[in-house]
Amino acid sequence: MSGEKGILSRREFIKAAGAAGLGSALVPLRSLTAADAGTSTTGSEQMVVPTRPFGKTGVDVSILSLGGVLKDTDQLVFRQAFKSGITYWDTADSYGWGSNEKAIGNYFAKFPGDRKKVFLVTKTASSNAQELSDKLNTSLQRMNTPYIDMYLIHYVSDVSKELTPEVKAWAESAKSKGTIRLFGFSAHKNMENSMLAAAKLGWVDGIMMSYNYRLMVKDEMKRAVDACAKAGIGLTAMKTQATFSANFYASIGSETDDALKMTENFLKKGYTTEQAKLKVVWENTHIASICSAMPNMTILQANIDAALNKQRLSEGDKQRLEQYARETAPGYCSGCAHICESAVDLGVPISDILRCSMYAHGYGCRDMALSLFNRLPTGARDNVFKADYSKAEKSCPQKIQIGRVLKRACEDLG
Ligand code: SF4
Repeated sequence: MSGEKGILSRREFIKAAGAAGLGSALVPLRSLTAADAGTSTTGSEQMVVPTRPFGKTGVDVSILSLGGVLKDTDQLVFRQAFKSGITYWDTADSYGWGSNEKAIGNYFAKFPGDRKKVFLVTKTASSNAQELSDKLNTSLQRMNTPYIDMYLIHYVSDVSKELTPEVKAWAESAKSKGTIRLFGFSAHKNMENSMLAAAKLGWVDGIMMSYNYRLMVKDEMKRAVDACAKAGIGLTAMKTQATFSANFYASIGSETDDALKMTENFLKKGYTTEQAKLKVVWENTHIASICSAMPNMTILQANIDAALNKQRLSEGDKQRLEQYARETAPGYCSGCAHICESAVDLGVPISDILRCSMYAHGYGCRDMALSLFNRLPTGARDNVFKADYSKAEKSCPQKIQIGRVLKRACEDLG
């Protein structure tokens, strides 16, 4: 605080507004009505989140997807999301150890008429046909539904090993039984390679992948998105805020004059930097939807406002985001695990550990971080302290101090 008591300086105000992020208030410059959005609602003037075609599947989905780990006590968030046109709901059998799926099941028990209007997605981390059947049945029971709109294999990083002929046969069988409508996978690392490989397969309907202002400008990602679009695969962007992967990097570049100017510029136009990060992703029309964690009504509303805001980002806005991405690169792991993990011995899962760190420090979700961390292969933690990272650090495009970050993450989560 500076100047008069109780009055924020310009710099402090911009910092505070930026820190408030998606939770901060925003008034849409011009909001969509149901007619604009081309979706049907009971009141023609009711504002609803618009829809986009989900690849060539013939399904339209809301451009905003309800993600995160909502609990049974969050029923009002589900209700308000639905009423606002957020009809794409995302979960996984692992979220909250099943509690997220159960909360959705309780919602459908109370509002059974809403089930058919929701595009429901869940995921499991297996490529074994019997396990897929067992886990799908568990998810169906938990969510009080006879079918899932799109079933995803979670955390795919090598399509050739994980999307096997056995998986293809399983997906076709589940579709013919009517227990799933569409099939696909989620990808948190090596996304581009997996997307390019999936585009050639011909039996993947949808992919949910890390995609944001840092990744979308990379040539490899542009090629991967184009290939999927041509193949008719529906794309859902996740991790759109590109949150920092390590606690001691959390403030890199975020308080520089350039970063503050960027925040100020967006605020003048009526949205926060976090909302601008959503808007830049939506500008690529090949992205059907953004999956966003919306853990409370305030953040839900900020996301909705961003989806309804029709003002396009200028070229200057995009350049500011790109500059910020460059300045803060060493704090963000872009998931290109094939680069660093082949440059270290002992099979250290670098990208996975950095993701655990991101959940713990960037998202404040320690439970999720620990759940993932505890699933790392036996010995991975010990190996972190034995491995030599010099080659990996030289080849990392983000210039991350990999050894230092990994050791700190293991000390913190181990
Ligand atoms: S540490 Fe660097 S090379 Fe490894 S996945 Fe992350 S960004 Fe890519």
